[in-house]
Amino acid sequence: MQEFQSWLDQHQESMADELEQLCNLNSGSHSNDGLTQVADWLVDYFAPLKVPVQTIELQSYEAVDDLGLRRTYKTGNALRWDIGCLPSESSKRLLLSIHYDTVYGPESPFQKCVRYSSRDANGHLENRMRGPGVIDAKGGLVVMRWAAMAAQRFLDLSRTSLTIITTPDEEIGSPASIRLWQEIAGQFDFAMLFEPTLPDGSLVSNRKGTGTFVIVVRGKAAHAGRNFLDGRNAVVHASKLAVAIDSLNGRRSDVTLNVGRIRGGDAVNVVPDMAVIRVNVRVTDKGDSQWVESQVQQIAQEFNFPENGYTVEMHGGLLSAPKPIDRETSHWMQVVEQAGAMVDQSIRWKASGGASDGNKLASLGLSNIDTFGPEGDLLHSDQEWVRLASLAKKAILAVAVINQINNESTVLKF
Ligand SMILES: [Zn+2]
Repeated sequence: MQEFQSWLDQHQESMADELEQLCNLNSGSHSNDGLTQVADWLVDYFAPLKVPVQTIELQSYEAVDDLGLRRTYKTGNALRWDIGCLPSESSKRLLLSIHYDTVYGPESPFQKCVRYSSRDANGHLENRMRGPGVIDAKGGLVVMRWAAMAAQRFLDLSRTSLTIITTPDEEIGSPASIRLWQEIAGQFDFAMLFEPTLPDGSLVSNRKGTGTFVIVVRGKAAHAGRNFLDGRNAVVHASKLAVAIDSLNGRRSDVTLNVGRIRGGDAVNVVPDMAVIRVNVRVTDKGDSQWVESQVQQIAQEFNFPENGYTVEMHGGLLSAPKPIDRETSHWMQVVEQAGAMVDQSIRWKASGGASDGNKLASLGLSNIDTFGPEGDLLHSDQEWVRLASLAKKAILAVAVINQINNESTVLKF
């Protein structure tokens, strides 16, 4: 048993307590007050690393609101800490990262953690905690912080630089932190992201690509009684368009389109002149991306007939490219497997339909493994739970991986 293993194991209880505290603070992606509060909490939480924190103000971003208007939004700050040796051409430069926003806003009834025990797949009782963000991704923040502390304490980091970054907007597609990723992705050799491990303990190998189309449909308002026939009902037009988009499902295997939201209309005695449709899509490769983009575009065009009083505008698109297993990724998968063997963890891999910042970093040329977070399930629901023992387990794996990379004799160039 390595020294760092027993040290991390001994701190199992603290990890669970810290996670409970952190999850009980709301940081929904759209709540800037909550994001600020949690960022302040994280500054204190990472203080034992004894390196200065860098607060990175992210640029504002534009999005289309439910009235079909382009609006500018501001999110929270990203935080950065640098440990290990100074980054240089001869050192191995690792990025450790995870987001601190969650999908649960302050209005959600799901705000507090509850601990309980439950049987695992083999019928053994295990300790769990249910709560907002316990695995997605506040559990990842706890694992990352303990891994960084253990690496600093037990490893010789004279040839490895570790940069830790946490971001406030992953759950809404990283519209602001994408600029940060574009700026810095080229400065690292490898990234470790602390998104949740799958419930059976598997890590994610490849991920689907994803994106959201926002389709703004405009018609013409009219009094529902006095001049109904002069109106052009945007809600009805949008509904037909939504059905056309939905009919693309099944046309190409592994491509899915989810018409997730339609907003439009107000008073029922008015023919509605506006509706906004949001469609989330998942694709497996570049061919799929092009296919889905052109199909949705074509449908939008087919429903755009201004001469009849209807206009259709399309916004958004595929923001996260698929994350395939390329040559470089399979190298890093091997490194993780070797590191796992050193700490008695056998590593299994599975594909996932969910995207992460790992997709974005990979498409910017930064190879990464993105499931160093704890084990659990049912994220994005009020049943989200974490297996508490996996906090220390995953911190141990992360340190073993850093150790393995640190000990490799050459810097890898692909
Ligand atoms: Zn998530």
